[in-house]
Amino acid sequence: MITTRFAPSPTGRLHVGNIRTALHNWMLARKSGGHFLLRIDDTDAERSREEYVDAIRADLAWLGLEPDGEERQSLRLELYEAAFEALRGAGRVYPCYESGQELDLKRKIALGRGLPPIYDRAALRLGDAERAAKEAEGIKPHWRFKLDHAETIEWDDGIRGHQHFEAASLSDPVIRRADGSWLYMLPSAVDDIEMGITHVLRGEDHVSNTAVQIQMFTALFAAQHLEQRNLPHFAHEALLVGSEGKLSKRLGALGCDAFREKGIEPQALVALLARLGTSLPVEPIADRAALIESFDLSIFGRAPARFDDAELERINKAIIHQLDFTEVKDRLPAGMDEAGWHAVRPNLGAVAEAGEWWRLVTGPITQPEFSDDDRAYLAEAARLLAWGDDPWHSLTGALRESTGRKGKPLFLPLRQALTGMDHGPDMAELLPLIGETEARARLERAAG
Ligand code: GLU
Repeated sequence: MITTRFAPSPTGRLHVGNIRTALHNWMLARKSGGHFLLRIDDTDAERSREEYVDAIRADLAWLGLEPDGEERQSLRLELYEAAFEALRGAGRVYPCYESGQELDLKRKIALGRGLPPIYDRAALRLGDAERAAKEAEGIKPHWRFKLDHAETIEWDDGIRGHQHFEAASLSDPVIRRADGSWLYMLPSAVDDIEMGITHVLRGEDHVSNTAVQIQMFTALFAAQHLEQRNLPHFAHEALLVGSEGKLSKRLGALGCDAFREKGIEPQALVALLARLGTSLPVEPIADRAALIESFDLSIFGRAPARFDDAELERINKAIIHQLDFTEVKDRLPAGMDEAGWHAVRPNLGAVAEAGEWWRLVTGPITQPEFSDDDRAYLAEAARLLAWGDDPWHSLTGALRESTGRKGKPLFLPLRQALTGMDHGPDMAELLPLIGETEARARLERAAG
């Protein structure tokens, strides 16, 4: 049984990069009939906002990525506390007293000497008296997890293949601030164990976090006397970049609202993001079951996935042209029925444009000036208009015979008189919607 999680911090809106991560975790779970959890990483009380929690839920609902359960880290603090105490008892966390400035300076010095900016563990060497002196000065400690520097950390990454890190090349991560609040690293590891997460699929910016968290898992199993379980499978996907090939600020700000405003359908975004950066072609597949069926970690490439607005628009158009009436009816102009939707659908770049085309049916329309010749032709059309199953083809057939016109001279004046436009949806579908009385009235008005 696969359980995945999507773990956004509610410090802002979801952007296209984390939408993609959510989608892939959702697909991975759906493919095997597993569970997809939403975990709200809200341990940073200062930056987390309830409105973003609501927005995350609403965005997932709009995308159709409904989670099977939701957890909030702010409601799980006692679990982190217990884990922290257990790790402390096992000597795997230690208090540190450096200020941000001191740490910056240490980093600069290390870099200046051509050394990697790894935390020097100075706090680990403090004696009880030195620590007491710091606290007497009113300095509250922040806490670091003590890595086992002797170890080479290894895992088989679902996307990147075999990974290995020398633990000694990593800084002991700060896991808790001086005010007692939690940083991301430990709560996430505690939750991944406690929630039975089997697959952690996230961006490759988390690769070194995984190395640290693998040691945390093992330390937690030992310190909390947990039954030794398998670690989750880890997979890190290449990041999403703009079409210019760089990590872009623009993508970081591009979220569901912006897509919705541009008339992008969630199905289009899903179809694009499901396949971007994989070996499978990006296609306008509206059927999620088909997308899920073809989804597998083995299809992911290592190169950054390029997000291209033009490609999204192309997919969006093709998706709209397949949407059923039931999927859009709440967003259509009043009175527009299934036949109306089918008539205008092939002309749409966005569902919201349906109203513009529907006005050709409901009127009023503005007709162009016609030549005398065309006016006589349109008068003939008004006379010959007969209503049946297929009034457009009967009308054009009768006019072809009686006037000898064909091609553009046959069709264009009719379209202009009936819709006021030179182009638009298929007239065979539009004419029945305009209706006999109105169609005859428009032809007669054009004939003058
Ligand atoms: N809250 C973390 C983030 O948004 C979660 C990372 C993870 O998937 O573990 O980066």
